[in-house]
Amino acid sequence: MSSFQPVRGTRDLINQEAQLLSYVTAKARETAKLYGFKETFTPVIESFELLSAKSGEEIRQRMFIFDDLGGRKIALRPEFTASIARLATTALRNEPKPLRVFSTGSVYRYDEPQKGRYREFYQANYELMGSAKPEADAEVILLTNSMMKNVGLQGYAIKLGNVGVLKGIMSQDGVDEKTQNAVLQRMDKKEYEAALALVENEKCRTTLRSLIELKADTVFETVEKMKAQVAGYEKASTAVENLSAILNLVAESGCPIEAVDPAFARGLEYYTGMIFEVYVPELDIALGGGGRYDRLIEVFGGEPTPAVGVAHGLDRIMIAMQTQQTTLKAQIQKRVAVVPVKEEIKGEALKIAQQLREAGVSVEFEIMGRKMAKALEDADKRGADYAVIVGERELKEGKVTLKDLKKREQCEVSLDELSSKIKQTPLG
Ligand code: AMP
Repeated sequence: MSSFQPVRGTRDLINQEAQLLSYVTAKARETAKLYGFKETFTPVIESFELLSAKSGEEIRQRMFIFDDLGGRKIALRPEFTASIARLATTALRNEPKPLRVFSTGSVYRYDEPQKGRYREFYQANYELMGSAKPEADAEVILLTNSMMKNVGLQGYAIKLGNVGVLKGIMSQDGVDEKTQNAVLQRMDKKEYEAALALVENEKCRTTLRSLIELKADTVFETVEKMKAQVAGYEKASTAVENLSAILNLVAESGCPIEAVDPAFARGLEYYTGMIFEVYVPELDIALGGGGRYDRLIEVFGGEPTPAVGVAHGLDRIMIAMQTQQTTLKAQIQKRVAVVPVKEEIKGEALKIAQQLREAGVSVEFEIMGRKMAKALEDADKRGADYAVIVGERELKEGKVTLKDLKKREQCEVSLDELSSKIKQTPLG
């Protein structure tokens, strides 16, 4: 056995896990279609400058960076938003707004590997660009709700906040942007005392602490109490009003919000408004998260464009599905092995295999030249549902033998009826 292993923090996905990732990706793509998001493919590598512009210290320090042979500083994408914002200022610049862009693929962060935390992981990413309205925020939250529902997860909960509240308070009290980002980073890690220790202004500290310690019975009450706490802070008050509008819209559309967290912050620096995350009760890591970033496109040299987006962590959705033992609602496709009885008729057997494939049946043709018994045993072991046995005598009558490998029954079937017979017969 080779001693080569995947690089630390990366992994091979094979068999059921590969199938699960493919299934979850298909669901993400379906969700994108349901909400009118167009799929876009962008490079896995981008200039370090682009990726580091506004993503925040946290992510900057975790990027995989290298110089290419031409001396350019390149990084593996740690997320999709910067790439899509780049597109919005270039190739998609003249497209009518709003833009709804979906992407899926691998992203890279030098995180400390543990359960649900990898250095290479998969995201489904949705960006909605061109609207500052709470309807746009509501759409990405509802889309996240639909995705969780579509993959069959139970009991998932959405946590909502607005980073504009904390930023508004700190700006008004004269906290510089760099310190603000450092405070938010610590809040994101729930290191509240460490966060408050960075703030010199006492009034600011008191207001932030009142939000951190705020308790309420319902999400609506939380928002009402937040309004009272930030009275006198103009931008923070507008942010709470906005949070309230989004919460009401989402709730009215029938999607419950489990929690509103007044001290909620997320790792990425570019957020300016609403932020949210989705969890399942069995795991304490977020399955997805997103928020509003109204200034990023400008930073990249585009027209001022308000935008909101979300990234779903596909690896973590897979873990949640495995933990909840969610059964795949994937279409169960019957698998068929086509086996010629002897060498001389393999051309004709291959033609039958082709006819079945054209009719949409999944066929594994016998390519090992094995004797019938061995080939059937192997097909059975691999979990094929049927074997189509192509014999000389039957072929002359326009027939083949169809063997049900699960029931261990067989019958002769005319070639005209073969594909419909395979498709019609229920499995099991
Ligand atoms: P972010 O891009 O930081 O907003 O993260 C969006 C989602 O990606 C998170 O909610 C996680 O589900 C997922 N995610 C983030 N980091 C990792 C990681 N290191 N490994 C696996 N999934 C991750």
